[in-house]
Amino acid sequence: MDEIRKRFIQGFIILIAILYIGRLFYLQVIDETYKLDAQNNAIRKIVQVPFRGLIYDRNKKLIVYNTPVYDLYITPKKAHVQDTLKFCRLFDITRSEFDSLTHLARIYSPVRPSLFLRQLSKEEYARVQDAMVDYPGFSFQISSLRTYQSKGMANALGYVGEISPERLLKEQEKGNEYYRQGDYVGVTGLERFYEDELRGQRGEKYVMVNSRGVEKGPFKNGEFDREPVAGKNLISSVDIALQDFADSLMQHKVGSVVAIEPSSGEILAMVSAPTYDPSKLSGRTFSKYFQTLNLDPLHPLINRPPSAYYRPGSTFKLIQALIGLQLGVISPSTGFGHAGVPMKCHCGGTSSSIQLGIKNSCNPYFYNVFKRIIYNNKEQNLFKKSAVGLQRWNDMASKFGIGQELGIDLPNETKGKLPSVEYYDKVYKGPLRWKFSNIYSVGIGEGEIVINPLKMANVAAIIANRGWYVRPHLVKGINEAGNIDNKYKEHISVGIDRRHFEPVIEGMVGAVNAGTVAAEARLSDIQICGKTGTSQNKHGQDHAIFIAFAPRENPKIAIAVFIENAGFGGTHSAPIASLCIEKYLKGKVERKAMETRWMNKSYLANVLSAKSASAKPNKEVKATVEKDSTIEDYQLRNLKEELFKLDQANKPKAPVFKIPMQPQAVLPKNQKIVPKKTH
Ligand SMILES: [Zn+2]
Repeated sequence: MDEIRKRFIQGFIILIAILYIGRLFYLQVIDETYKLDAQNNAIRKIVQVPFRGLIYDRNKKLIVYNTPVYDLYITPKKAHVQDTLKFCRLFDITRSEFDSLTHLARIYSPVRPSLFLRQLSKEEYARVQDAMVDYPGFSFQISSLRTYQSKGMANALGYVGEISPERLLKEQEKGNEYYRQGDYVGVTGLERFYEDELRGQRGEKYVMVNSRGVEKGPFKNGEFDREPVAGKNLISSVDIALQDFADSLMQHKVGSVVAIEPSSGEILAMVSAPTYDPSKLSGRTFSKYFQTLNLDPLHPLINRPPSAYYRPGSTFKLIQALIGLQLGVISPSTGFGHAGVPMKCHCGGTSSSIQLGIKNSCNPYFYNVFKRIIYNNKEQNLFKKSAVGLQRWNDMASKFGIGQELGIDLPNETKGKLPSVEYYDKVYKGPLRWKFSNIYSVGIGEGEIVINPLKMANVAAIIANRGWYVRPHLVKGINEAGNIDNKYKEHISVGIDRRHFEPVIEGMVGAVNAGTVAAEARLSDIQICGKTGTSQNKHGQDHAIFIAFAPRENPKIAIAVFIENAGFGGTHSAPIASLCIEKYLKGKVERKAMETRWMNKSYLANVLSAKSASAKPNKEVKATVEKDSTIEDYQLRNLKEELFKLDQANKPKAPVFKIPMQPQAVLPKNQKIVPKKTH
């Protein structure tokens, strides 16, 4: 027994020895890369950051590029600053910032250069250059800064910033080992959505250094070096001239403008107001400016077109008309009066056709259309009839993208909401407990329908195309035009026959020429087809909505304009849409006085007073909400909860790093940054 044990132990030892020798052989003879690590003291890896891809507009105008900037590095052991205050003044930092930056650098390594200050401009660099002879141990390295041609597209473009620890962890969990602390990544907008395309691949260079850290030339003649690969360029679908123009019209207002080329789904302009100066979120002013923006009650950091939430109001009547026609429950010449309808209307009494119903935006007309849609089935029981009707209506309206994501190439697109049978069963605490008379406000775009401006611009594009759309997108090419995901080329049908669109479009023409739209929104030589909407708002003026396309035949532009707390859509949003259409189709605006007037118009006082009204605790509302006695109460609570959730989800998180992280430029391969403990 003992003998067996002895043999076993001997065998085990021999096995271990063989493994060791094998590994040693492998490490010393075969694996060259390990050699790089083993000789860490003598070989330094220098990471070369690639140039981030550029972004052009649809006419090849450069809108985002890189400007060279200078990063300041410190080598603590060599650094010597006699007059610290003078140094701080020179670089515009505080004494405590100076102390913490030098402290961090010392923790990282006393002998290796650490990043001290990021992104000094050419001017700043020129200003401090002469003084640097007094500060041994400090040196500059050139890098680049994201630079924006115009302010108008800040939210859609997004910004780049240092990768957050959460994002770093998330990427690593996904198996993406590319990123390291201190890396710059796209945080929002296109910069984030197209991060993989834009960022490129970093390069590596190995140099030999002596014991004092002085470079002695390339390691093995650069055999292990890898050149950085620049990021790919994006060709945006945006017309930057139209974008800037729409942005200037949205000054002093809160809301959105979204313009789409109907035939391609390419977004021509996407304005979120108020906007911000993207150049201030790029570089050293980031932290300070971000905090200011984050605290702004008007939420300039939320990209409203794909993320804000509104009720569509009367613009939704267009979808109702199309569903009614497709189901055959109305014909173009169906008329309805006001009798017996629990809704107000100012149209004058009767709308004798679908054209007139749309032209006048007649509420009773669409109450009746919706009633026919819901009750158009063989069920006898009204509750059952309502459930069957609503389900089919929900299926048909979903095809317009309502309650769905359209799949735009941006992060944070919201689905919105389209009520379903399941939803009302929940509200009424059981099936077959609600019927048409409980839900009719949905028929005119009120109640619990929630949309965003992008969706409604797409609805205008669907009508312009007479029944189909291409998923709206902001990038029409990667490196070259047309090189995009096939999902942005596919024609998606909404399931309504082409012939049903003409009577609806006729109504939109009527609305613009002699209906609910302000006269100044007409263009003498271009037919605009439009629909107004007024989105109800408990605490202040209604939100003004207008959606349109032009010209009537071969439409080139579909547009949605939303202005918060402005009032009636035909009066306040239609003129802005009209000016944008003129600018895009004619390349210039002839109505100069009108342009100036709308640029200067402000609704900010309305917005702020509505905000303060909604912030006040309202005991009456609270009491009824808790009981959920009516659908209105439920809606209010549900909407508030939902809006709060959306609000939270869309709020960009404050950056965690205030102090620049240690550079990766001097990290050896596979070595993680683990700060030494100090006592
Ligand atoms: Zn009416």
